[in-house]
Amino acid sequence: MIPPDHPRYRSLLARERIARYAAGGIVTLEGLAAHGRGEAFDYLIGERTTESALLAERTAAALLLCAERPVISVNGNTAALAADQVARLQQVSGARVEVNLFHRSEERIQKITALLEDAGVTVGKGRAERLLPLSHDRAFCLREGIYSADTVLVPLEDGDRCSALRTMGKTVIVIDLNPLSRTARTASLTIVDELTRALPHITEACGVLSREEALYLCSSYDNRKFLSDALAEIQRRLARALD
Ligand code: ATP
Ligand code: MG
Repeated sequence: MIPPDHPRYRSLLARERIARYAAGGIVTLEGLAAHGRGEAFDYLIGERTTESALLAERTAAALLLCAERPVISVNGNTAALAADQVARLQQVSGARVEVNLFHRSEERIQKITALLEDAGVTVGKGRAERLLPLSHDRAFCLREGIYSADTVLVPLEDGDRCSALRTMGKTVIVIDLNPLSRTARTASLTIVDELTRALPHITEACGVLSREEALYLCSSYDNRKFLSDALAEIQRRLARALD
């Protein structure tokens, strides 16, 4: 039992959760390493949502609301940490949800699909085809899902696939605590925040944004600004670290 007054309570709970899902075959060992990199950057950003990230989250909601064919792409870490939150975001945004894995196997896809469905997600199914311009297994996706989406929310995306999706002309929204990653720099919109803090903010914004506000946000954001805000915040915190 982790005591709720422990200063790292949320982080320790997430660790316990992701370790449990790794034991169950939903999260890979590589996924554990990716989570650790996320934790390190979360420490640097202060384990909280910055003003700038909140604006990026409202912008993500706007992009999903204005999209004609929005899709949320879910991997093992996302399912393990945030299946319930994905269900709520799907309800308010009307986005399709598709399971897409770097370390792809039918068994993992089935396990992750079952976990999402238990949480109330409607999961896109069908025969995945090699449709993205990539050599590894992340090239597989559903023709009526990610392949034909105009906007894709890909929490915890990897850099190669992010740029492949961009090459196909899609608007790509990523959630990535590392503002220096290729993913963060390649995405159309980067949310530099922790996954389980970011998703409820996007869901909430989907419920309150007017059509005019959404259209304004879609046309006025500057992703470089979101990245430079995150780096500036990290620099500020480092400069004050020993005060
Ligand atoms: P890139 O290819 O984009 O340069 P990478 O492939 O090296 O990056 P990965 O190892 O695939 O990055 O890890 C995925 C990213 O997800 C990491 O940058 C990490 O900071 C981030 N990340 C991991 N867990 C979370 C989380 N819970 N919330 C937000 N971001 C996370
Ligand atoms: Mg990568």
